[in-house]
Amino acid sequence: MDIIYADNNATTQIAPSVLDEMMPYLKDYYGNPSSMHTFGGQVGKKIQEARAQTASLLNATPEEILFTSCGTESDSTAINAAIRSNPTKKHIVTTRVEHPAVKNLCEKLAKDGFRITYVPVDQNGALDLDFLYQSLTDDTAIVSIMWANNETGVIFPVEKIASVVKGKGIAFHTDAVQAVGKIPIDLKNSDIDMLSLSGHKIHAPKGIGALYIRKRTKFSPFLIGGHQEKGRRGGTENVASIIGLGAASRFSQELMEKENTEVKNLRDTLEKGLLEKIEHSFVNGEKERRLPNTTSIAFEYVEGEAILLMMDQFGICASSGSACTSGSLEPSHVLRAMGVPFTAAHGTIRFSLSTYNTMEEVNRIIEKLPPIIQTLRNMSPFWKQNQ
Ligand code: PLP
Repeated sequence: MDIIYADNNATTQIAPSVLDEMMPYLKDYYGNPSSMHTFGGQVGKKIQEARAQTASLLNATPEEILFTSCGTESDSTAINAAIRSNPTKKHIVTTRVEHPAVKNLCEKLAKDGFRITYVPVDQNGALDLDFLYQSLTDDTAIVSIMWANNETGVIFPVEKIASVVKGKGIAFHTDAVQAVGKIPIDLKNSDIDMLSLSGHKIHAPKGIGALYIRKRTKFSPFLIGGHQEKGRRGGTENVASIIGLGAASRFSQELMEKENTEVKNLRDTLEKGLLEKIEHSFVNGEKERRLPNTTSIAFEYVEGEAILLMMDQFGICASSGSACTSGSLEPSHVLRAMGVPFTAAHGTIRFSLSTYNTMEEVNRIIEKLPPIIQTLRNMSPFWKQNQ
């Protein structure tokens, strides 16, 4: 059975050109980049090339890029660095809709005595900026706001927020794991202090990420060890994956235009087709300021997990808007924060496309999904009650 992979916000296929660049560094050039000999030294040079490629995707300088193991590590490194660098400040500002990489860290820090302000969103997923600005105090150590939401694709005005936060002398971090590679990012002309990204969302392998740290930003390392990464992260480098991230950054830069035209057109066609064919369905979140590849669609009165299982039989891969916790299917914290009604949040499916998807695949989803929803609705007591 052919797979239709529409779950690219979860992870992406490694681009063949990325894999080609990595292979020699898994097989032949296995030297340690910290070694004095030429054999290791040549690997170090290739890491610097990857650093420059990653910087270029963000319009940053190579010295501002720190390689990490993933987006989660980048988020933790940034937030922990800010609170360690400002030991007297005990307040953190973030949003209600962050990825668990930030959300769960903040919940842990709350237990450690930090005061956390969670900025709310409206029913379109847009941030309450007045609430955010009013929450900033002399005690605020860091503001961490995601660039784009992984579930709905809604984009936050982080550049605007960063300049207000900077004006108050507070550190600003953004989790841009979903934004990088999908929308243009220009850090040179922004007030963002730190930015997290992850390789496996942009066609590099899993287990590699990066943190942008603006020059002169106060920093304190998370992993203490050797002198790698200029002492900002100990541990022998994940060489092949770093090279993969560099290659993927170049690949993403080349594809940015296509992402915002062709991939967007696929997403729009999918969205329109499903909404037209399936009654009682709607898009979660504002449609304009949104990632070009993502759509979160609520199919009322059905269970998202049941939809996923039935789509799986046709090889269609997507994600639901629920988090399976302790046996009960809770709608995601993002949809709850937006006030999406229970009967819609439960039936939400996120489709996230990439440059590897085709119109034929989109049409197949539009053909296969309506009968699946109808079958499930015929079994649903909620559906019957609302007819
Ligand atoms: N932040 C966001 C917005 C994400 O979507 C993800 C992954 O889904 C992460 C952070 C975590 O990235 P990683 O899987 O590389 O740890």
